[in-house]
Amino acid sequence: MAKLEIPNDIFEQILVQAEAEVPIEACGILAGIDGKVEKLYKMTNTDQSSDHFMMAPEEQFKVVKDIRTAGLEMLAIYHSHPASPARPSQEDIKLALTPDVIYVIVSLQDANAPVLKGFIVENGNITEVSVTIVS
Ligand SMILES: [Zn+2]
Repeated sequence: MAKLEIPNDIFEQILVQAEAEVPIEACGILAGIDGKVEKLYKMTNTDQSSDHFMMAPEEQFKVVKDIRTAGLEMLAIYHSHPASPARPSQEDIKLALTPDVIYVIVSLQDANAPVLKGFIVENGNITEVSVTIVS
């Protein structure tokens, strides 16, 4: 079963980025091996939208190449929900076209208690996966 382990320092970096980019959705890619995240790539939300994100294909291509060179795998694509819960939106489900990745959503709806969750999206169906923050 798919699961994800995120080191605490990378989790912190996601939160800092997500908070810095409010009210825009922040996004990025997590790379690692065997479900264990080792590297974070901050990406530009080319839509600059508060309820939608889009990554530039050239930027994504560069990251994919870097991940491969490092001998890692693309494990997850993350984005923030500045004002909504940590659940994929209809739009997220429609645009979840990258195979074999976990979609991570960090919700800042409660500014004092950010929530991070991971999902697999297949044919419009969402399955929540276990995400552990490790030190
Ligand atoms: Zn979303």
